[in-house]
Amino acid sequence: MNNELPKIIILLGVPGSGKGTQAKRLCENYGYGHVSTGDLLRALDKDENADPADKEALAAMKAGKLVADDLIYKLAFNEIKKNLEDGKGSVLDGAIRTVVQAQKYQEFFEEIGVADSARTFEIRIADETVMTRLGIRLANEGKQRPDDDPEIMKKRLEQQGNEAVKPIREYYEAKGILTVIDGEPPIDEVTALVNEALK
Ligand code: AMP
Repeated sequence: MNNELPKIIILLGVPGSGKGTQAKRLCENYGYGHVSTGDLLRALDKDENADPADKEALAAMKAGKLVADDLIYKLAFNEIKKNLEDGKGSVLDGAIRTVVQAQKYQEFFEEIGVADSARTFEIRIADETVMTRLGIRLANEGKQRPDDDPEIMKKRLEQQGNEAVKPIREYYEAKGILTVIDGEPPIDEVTALVNEALK
């Protein structure tokens, strides 16, 4: 991949901010590997041969809560390493949801020598927009995931809403690697803003 591109792109944003869609586009357009901890956890849920202790940790996900940190690190670090071995950078989609996690990832980035090649984009939308988007999605497509439910979404927003994103944003702001992207406009416009920020 282009040497000027960061090896790690961290996407922050509340559930429903569109960061998953933007992550996929970054991967298609620039050759990154997509590290979505939500996808990795759902794959684990379906995997009959998975470690039973890991599977137990997934109960939190189904209740709209955060999953234990150790499981997140195991899944995400493995993917990031695999991508590097394949000569690819990683787009981290939802992989960092607390400052404790941000610090642990930072140590890991230092260990594998990519700490100086990391950027963070926060795709920012209001919490109210999340509920509106979920309502539209449920009306159009029906329930797509176990946690697609207005009551569970309210719980997720308590732990994963803008209040929760704020200290993580501040952590990266202090490192001078944060760009805030307005996530309210239509998808293509948000992509244009992301591409602009990468230049
Ligand atoms: P997502 O598909 O990104 O919306 O994630 C779905 C669910 O997976 C979240 O509501 C959490 O329960 C869990 N999850 C995903 N990433 C993390 C993380 N970094 N830390 C803790 N829990 C996570």
